[in-house]
Amino acid sequence: MPLNDFAYQRCLNHQCGYTCGPEEARTACPKCGDLLDVLYDWNRSKPPSSLKYFEEMWSRRNEPLRFSGIYRFHELLPFAKPETVVTVGEGQTLLQQSDFVGTYVGMKPGRLYLQYEGMNPSGSFKDNGMSAAFTHAHAIGAKRAACASTGNTSASLAMYCAATRLMKAVIFIGSGKISYGKLSQALDYGALTVQIAGDFDDAMARVQEISRDLGIYLVNSVNPFRLEGQKSIMFRVLEALRWEVPDWIVVPGGNLGNSSAFGKAFMELKELGLIDRVPRLAVINASGADTLFELFEHRGLRWNGGRANMSIVDHYYQELDQLGRKASTIASAIEINRPVNLRKCLRALEFCDGVVRQVTDQEMLDAKAKVGAGGFGCEPASAASVAGARLLRDQGIIGSDERVVCILTGHQLKDPTATVAYHTTDQEQFNKVLGSRGVKRASFANRAVAVPNDLGEIIKAIQLYS
Ligand SMILES: *Cc1c(COP(=O)(O)O)cnc(C)c1O
Ligand SMILES: [Zn+2]
Repeated sequence: MPLNDFAYQRCLNHQCGYTCGPEEARTACPKCGDLLDVLYDWNRSKPPSSLKYFEEMWSRRNEPLRFSGIYRFHELLPFAKPETVVTVGEGQTLLQQSDFVGTYVGMKPGRLYLQYEGMNPSGSFKDNGMSAAFTHAHAIGAKRAACASTGNTSASLAMYCAATRLMKAVIFIGSGKISYGKLSQALDYGALTVQIAGDFDDAMARVQEISRDLGIYLVNSVNPFRLEGQKSIMFRVLEALRWEVPDWIVVPGGNLGNSSAFGKAFMELKELGLIDRVPRLAVINASGADTLFELFEHRGLRWNGGRANMSIVDHYYQELDQLGRKASTIASAIEINRPVNLRKCLRALEFCDGVVRQVTDQEMLDAKAKVGAGGFGCEPASAASVAGARLLRDQGIIGSDERVVCILTGHQLKDPTATVAYHTTDQEQFNKVLGSRGVKRASFANRAVAVPNDLGEIIKAIQLYS
């Protein structure tokens, strides 16, 4: 058996109490329909007694297990036997300190950090979760894996399938809602790509039915193993801070897998006595896809120790349907109105004393331009974290000398259309692509300078603009 029997799955709903073994491939509790958690009998798995243990793992980077930025921390997500994990070397990402971006956010020098997850093999943080789900799928003998995706999940799944040859990928995307950078990856990696006439929420509903009917392994973040891999983002943040806990983690919120995974990571680290305090969590929605913000900040939805009032959610979703409101934002990776991990995220917000904010497309694109000018670069959705941190600074909720980590979820080249439209000289083109999104001005546009093909004119232009 490739899976450890001290790992098990348990329904998030404590009143339900359903549990099953690690070998089950389920994306919902069969008794009550809630999400499942992957849990461990830590007494049997025996994790290390100090995080310093993991420092030694750097020196073992010639072993595939420790080469991976996820399985370097294998003892903290030990559902699979070490020799069975599937890795392509994901998670080699770094925490970078940036005073340039920090100034924009309103932080004192040395206080703003960017966790640069765009440096993963498929260019987004999704590889963290995909490696774990893929390991689980392979362990239980799956031959095909499916996902609905706004682009990055599909790029990641397609890459693992192509690189390992262990499974075939079936990808569902909504029509017209995927950036070329991401679509090109799925096609290039050779995945079967099914484009549905509908949006992400539609594609998500269909893929759950299809994977159930055809017995295809589902790797969307309703898959609890995905979140196990995503915990490692927080392990790397702590590692980079020499195991000191930052004051804030700021993360974009789409399907809320990341925020849920981060909360679970800190719950477990605290339970194991590996950290003595917990950072605060800020989840940032796009204002055109602001379900969590609306429910948490306006309608008072709380985890309540597991007794969240879900009628608030049902009522809100009915309202969305009645108004025919669909998610709409330039940040396609978080253009989601029915986040599947909502309940886990509420738990994370409670444990980490969290807040939720929304930022406009304008704020995201301006923040994205600053991230780029700071030498990092990210896709629009990722910049929600920086725009959100700035907003929380403005509101006095984040202090200027607190230590803040913004997660940059995806690479700069994922969505070049948005970037070029923002910086372009051509106002007509800008309006065409971004004007309809309510983006009025490109505050930090770096416009190309048009000059005649003439040496004297070119020199004049360089002297004028530099
Ligand atoms: C998937 C994704 C998100 C949203 O993450 P969730 O875990 O679904 O909340 C944000 N940014 C990028 C670049 C993504 O690919
Ligand atoms: Zn249940």
